[in-house]
Amino acid sequence: MMRTISDYLPAEHVDHQLFINGQFVDAADQSQFDCISPATGKRLCQVSSANEHDVDRAVKAARDAFNSGAWRDANVSHRKKILLRLAQLVESNAEKLAIIETWDTGKPIRDSRAVDMAGSVQMVRWFAESVDKLYDEIAPTDNPIVAQIRRTPLGVIAAVTPWNFPLLTALTKIIPALAVGNSVVLKPSELSPLSALYLARLGAEAGLPDGVLNVVTGSGGQAGAALGLHPDVDALLFTGSTATGKRFMQYSGASNLKKISLECGGKSANIVLDDCPDIDKAVQATANGIFFNAGQICNAGSRLILQRAIAEQFKLKLAAHLDNYKPGDPMDSATTLGSMISSGHADKVRGHIREAEQQGARIYAQARAWDGAGGFDATAWVPPTLIDQVNNSMRIAQEEVFGPVLAIMEVDTVDEALQTANDSQYGLAAAIWTSDMRTAHRAQQTLHAGFVWVNSVRAGHIATPFGGVKQSGFGRDKSLHAFDNVSYLKTTWYDYS
Ligand code: NAD
Repeated sequence: MMRTISDYLPAEHVDHQLFINGQFVDAADQSQFDCISPATGKRLCQVSSANEHDVDRAVKAARDAFNSGAWRDANVSHRKKILLRLAQLVESNAEKLAIIETWDTGKPIRDSRAVDMAGSVQMVRWFAESVDKLYDEIAPTDNPIVAQIRRTPLGVIAAVTPWNFPLLTALTKIIPALAVGNSVVLKPSELSPLSALYLARLGAEAGLPDGVLNVVTGSGGQAGAALGLHPDVDALLFTGSTATGKRFMQYSGASNLKKISLECGGKSANIVLDDCPDIDKAVQATANGIFFNAGQICNAGSRLILQRAIAEQFKLKLAAHLDNYKPGDPMDSATTLGSMISSGHADKVRGHIREAEQQGARIYAQARAWDGAGGFDATAWVPPTLIDQVNNSMRIAQEEVFGPVLAIMEVDTVDEALQTANDSQYGLAAAIWTSDMRTAHRAQQTLHAGFVWVNSVRAGHIATPFGGVKQSGFGRDKSLHAFDNVSYLKTTWYDYS
């Protein structure tokens, strides 16, 4: 018989209500939405659906907590202790959280454990450790005046997050905000709300004062928009699509000019030149760069730009990798290709493949489709697919597919490669494979992207800033630069004359 989440986790560990002012509560009008497990197509539970009144309650709780000073004015050693305790709780509950994440998103349990949970623990711990290492400044003004420049919390921070790495992205937003003393209202994606609610429980257990961390679940159009438009939210941290990111700019302008930071989509180029130092390494990294998490990654290298002399050899080797991504029960630790976030999203991805073919591109290779044996919804899986004969003006090369689909183009020169890479509305990431340091340096200068990889794809570290340019957004997550999204610099003049 088909297993359910309750075979892995007691039902009382799956929270399903809003978390406001330290309490799990129903939405004021009691409304709920279905939380579906994409791998089975079946309902996991019903979750409270917040409307603007619930959002208002959560923002008020956050404001009251901020004004009380219980968290904002606490000693840095205290804030650090509570956040380190939270890191420890995320770590000791990592298996439960990984199970929740896998059921909620369809991603393989091995990835939930090794990537989402490992990254989540590190995210909380790193920012907790930073709390007592942030120094302020004294400006070099003339005597006897002293000008002090202090990093100051903004107040109430809202975070609206997507479904591809639900807990990890939520923590990326909220932990820096909490670290400097803000209060937070988090709205996770309605497609993956459960780990954020479990996090709220852990935050309370760690000792965050009531109202400092609130979680409102619900739709983007209702709960998300209500946060974007709320007159008492000081900053909104968003990760998601560019279309929604643009709405948040409008919400800000139409309300209180709240500070906005946006991590939006990408269509990142991965350039492999004829002098690539290690073709096998590049093939492996290219495959991982687009097929990991079923391609549902903002910085996936979804456009492969090959210099002509190595193109055929590279494609052949890449095709041999496709069947390494093994579809199956996401709870089976041998599975390496999970479902997409929904069968509806999988349909969209299939539509992109069909349209590319109609426009003259060709399916160069595709992994075997899965039949969903054992009661799974096979329509939620898309097999890894290589599409070549792509022209950079085609939709498959310009739009974010957010699936395991690689658009392959061939070029003759380095200039053509760089120009093709930059010919995109997006500017999140770009990669180049070359043995020539001069070419690498020129590419680093020319590629218009938030980060550039030379001879790797998707290298990353919590100590480096993460974010894009152009329609990939602005503001930086991770690293100490993340504090710029959630604080402001206050200058105070002391006149001793
Ligand atoms: P999405 O924009 O549909 O949703 C993201 C969040 O915004 C969700 O919480 C959703 O409820 C909310 N939302 C949706 N419509 C809204 C509206 N009208 N008003 C207010 N809030 C609204 O994105 P998604 O489909 O959840 O996630 C996939 C997208 O996220 C992709 O485009 C991907 O590139 C992007 N993404 C970017 C990064 C990054 O760091 N750059 C990371 C992960 C995902």
